[in-house]
Amino acid sequence: MCKHILNAQVSIRSPCCRKWFDCADCHHEQESHPLKQSLELIFACKKCRKCFRKDAQEFEDADEYCPHCDNHFVLEAVVPKPALKVEGEDARVDNRMLKDDRIKDGKQGGEGMRTVFDIDKDADRLG
Ligand SMILES: [Zn+2]
Ligand SMILES: [Zn+2]
Ligand SMILES: [Zn+2]
Repeated sequence: MCKHILNAQVSIRSPCCRKWFDCADCHHEQESHPLKQSLELIFACKKCRKCFRKDAQEFEDADEYCPHCDNHFVLEAVVPKPALKVEGEDARVDNRMLKDDRIKDGKQGGEGMRTVFDIDKDADRLG
């Protein structure tokens, strides 16, 4: 079993040494030579254990499924190491601070607020 991609659905036959590997890292660990790149890929489905060929240059959405059992073998690889999550909470805090500054500026230069105060003062004098 491949320890690099935990959800591997197919084995791929290396064009160089013609052995079956789950991923390029497995080939690298077991062989001393570099993995040869090939336009024709030979897969073996892990579900139905049948082989099929794919052209790497004309790989389409329909080619992501095993032609024998429709097993979806092109998946986002699940790797043993947990992925780092980046949270965007800091942007919200920055927005709030900007709003507070604007409210302070509005109180200083707002003519409408001054008028309201003047009316209140006049009402006190009359009363
Ligand atoms: Zn090889
Ligand atoms: Zn591997
Ligand atoms: Zn299959």
